[in-house]
Amino acid sequence: MNEFEIINTFFNQPQNNSKNSNNLHNLKLSIGDDCAMFGEYLICKDLLLEHIHFFSDIDPYALGHKSLAVNLSDLAAMGSIPCFFLLGIALPNKDEAWLAQFSSGLLSLAQKHNCILIGGDTTKSTKDICISITAIGKINSKSNSKILQRNNAQINDDIWVSGLIGEARLALGHKYKEWSISAEAFEHCIQRMQMPSPRVELGLLISNMANACIDISDGLLGDLGHILKASNVSAEINIDNIALSPYLHKTQCSKDIMLNCILCGGDDYELCFTAPTTHRNAIMEVGEQLNLPLSRIGKVSSQLHNMPNISAQYEGEILSLDNTFTSFMHF
Ligand code: ADP
Ligand code: MG
Repeated sequence: MNEFEIINTFFNQPQNNSKNSNNLHNLKLSIGDDCAMFGEYLICKDLLLEHIHFFSDIDPYALGHKSLAVNLSDLAAMGSIPCFFLLGIALPNKDEAWLAQFSSGLLSLAQKHNCILIGGDTTKSTKDICISITAIGKINSKSNSKILQRNNAQINDDIWVSGLIGEARLALGHKYKEWSISAEAFEHCIQRMQMPSPRVELGLLISNMANACIDISDGLLGDLGHILKASNVSAEINIDNIALSPYLHKTQCSKDIMLNCILCGGDDYELCFTAPTTHRNAIMEVGEQLNLPLSRIGKVSSQLHNMPNISAQYEGEILSLDNTFTSFMHF
């Protein structure tokens, strides 16, 4: 059983989604998207565990930042406005200098997005650090805005991706000694891995144009795959259209490393979204306004054999997306 089969088998049970409880609590969205929604609020939770999600030598300021950033990224993926968060933290010891740095990284990002810490829980752990944040956002009341779900991609929509994906994975591979990159590349990419920028403004600006959206936490193929599965559609993408980090350019690394990083690399926290072709120019303008590359990487197509499928082209040829291209999954 993989991570998603565990969730669906044991936690996403029918009685949990009964109509009665939905009505009672004004629950509009439940398990299956980047956030759940009740009334006008969106809510999400992410867990960061030492040795699994971060190295023990991570700078505590960066860890504080990342703990909140990954949650703000889920709020961004729904096109919502961050409001509040709760902090659960388990620590093996009380290192005050560490805590000062951690809270500084956490609260600086919170302040930047006007997101207020309203509660949490603090406990001692036996060995490892564990951080779990629950974040709450509000729907964007701008006219024509909608909540960006995974299940509304439409056939012939353009598929877009923000930023320079793959950089976080490039740093991780260097750290794990899967490959070696220059000191300059590592310094840049480790920063991207440890201090991701949640694309909150982008989520808000596309919320009146996009049909479906997800944040890329586990890799482009896997996360785009979640949109396709939820929307019962397929995708045709052209990898040459993805804005490429200079550190992933062929003068810097091999084709295999580059493809692995951009297609399967997690931890980028960029947004992948689909939108009608009529919004192309407006979306390009949003990219210019935010000074953020927005790549139009392909289009949504209909499903063959009732199975969502991604067909990818690279340098004019169809790329076989076999087992070498798998996204990150726990279990
Ligand atoms: P994301 O990467 O956006 O944080 P995940 O892939 O981790 O989302 O989770 C997929 C969906 O399953 C989300 O809607 C999430 O809230 C839900 N989910 C994950 N773990 C659990 C759990 N233990 N119980 C209930 N729902 C869960
Ligand atoms: Mg997400």
